[in-house]
Amino acid sequence: MKRLSIGLRLTLWYLAIFALAQLIFGVGMWFILRENMHDIADGALASEVEDVRRFLESQRTDATLDELRKAVTEEYSAETSGDYLQIVNADGNWIYRSPSLAEHNFSPVPPSLLRKSVHHDGQLGKEPFRFVSQRIDIHDRPYTVQAALSTDEEMETLERFQRYLLMFAPGLLLAAGGVGYWMSRRALSPVDALTRTARTITGHTLSSRLTEFTADASHELRTPISLIRTEAELALRRSRGEEEYREALRHILLEAERTTSLIEELLALARADSGRQSLHIQTIDLRETLQEVSSGWRAVASVRGLQFSERILDAELRVLGDVEALRRVVNILLDNAFKYTPAPGGVVTLAAEQREGSALISVRDNGMGIAEEDQARIFERFYRVDKARSRELGGAGLGLSIAQWIVQQHGGKIQVESALNAGSIFWVELPLAAARIPKELLIR
Ligand code: ADP
Repeated sequence: MKRLSIGLRLTLWYLAIFALAQLIFGVGMWFILRENMHDIADGALASEVEDVRRFLESQRTDATLDELRKAVTEEYSAETSGDYLQIVNADGNWIYRSPSLAEHNFSPVPPSLLRKSVHHDGQLGKEPFRFVSQRIDIHDRPYTVQAALSTDEEMETLERFQRYLLMFAPGLLLAAGGVGYWMSRRALSPVDALTRTARTITGHTLSSRLTEFTADASHELRTPISLIRTEAELALRRSRGEEEYREALRHILLEAERTTSLIEELLALARADSGRQSLHIQTIDLRETLQEVSSGWRAVASVRGLQFSERILDAELRVLGDVEALRRVVNILLDNAFKYTPAPGGVVTLAAEQREGSALISVRDNGMGIAEEDQARIFERFYRVDKARSRELGGAGLGLSIAQWIVQQHGGKIQVESALNAGSIFWVELPLAAARIPKELLIR
């Protein structure tokens, strides 16, 4: 059987507890109400017994049974309080018996059977009554006073209470169920969100991505190292001229440099993943950072025979950021632009402007471009459009994923626009530091 959802189970528990509480409350109230009614009835009966005691005490001590009968009958037949009254002497004979009790042939209880008063519920005909049988001792002679009180109204009240309970209980229960369900939904909504997120991190997205990353990383590291080894082994196989050794060492150096930068990239990603890569955020002028970076690339451009131009806005571009990390982003984008743009006729442009509360950096080239289906994937780790070519140019496919991580840490966005064989533009949008005081308001 399918397990019920946590929300439904919580609601059912809540309902069960509520129903139990309602039952305990209902039954408890019913008993308390009945006890109270008994107390009131018993109180009235006790005072009736007390009346009889006082009356009998006022009689002569030597009065005969007949005399007593006569006196009591005279006293009580006129009074309504004696409606349900019976007085019995030590022999079990009655001294007084109200007509209503006589009619029901209410059996007399001799005082010898009683130690104190006995209360009980019962009926006379069809009507409910509360009874008391009490022993009293008058002038050293024991008597039993038996009195009854109709509890018709009380019973009616109890029944009405019971009816109301049964009538309202299902509605209350239904309302409680609704409230319980609503509360459980509310209480569980953060859990739901967690569950949804957790579901998206399936085996594939988490563990297999991790092993993929490890496998790719090892592969990437093995390649330059085996190249270095091959180059060294070949050079050592037989003696060579100085120029040949120099050539071999140059290759080895190049591969060693690539390996170093690859290891740096891998470390950067590992630190980013473990959350240990902390950025040193401060208010910076992005324009300065860009100018510093681009001055280095001017030299590279002239060596490679590419044209490099800058269009950096002539005003402060204040953002909250880590200078080193942002420099790295621009370096990655420029490095790619230079790598994937063929030399003769190649133009790379670095631009920066301000647009609606954001600093907008763009790196444009007129190189080989990126096909539509690859554009979404180039920010993935180790993703290269053309593995062989990219490797030849020295990339492991990590640059853009590092750039994206950095930009996202700055609360920004990185995007690409590109057309195959026409060129690419990479956009980096960073939020500007808290709005500055408008120029007009500044005291000059
Ligand atoms: P790599 O180190 O291989 O350049 P990146 O993550 O920086 O790795 O880029 C991923 C891939 O995106 C590159 O291998 C390349 O195929 C493609 N790419 C990136 N920038 C450009 C560009 N300006 N022009 C054409 N292709 C690019």
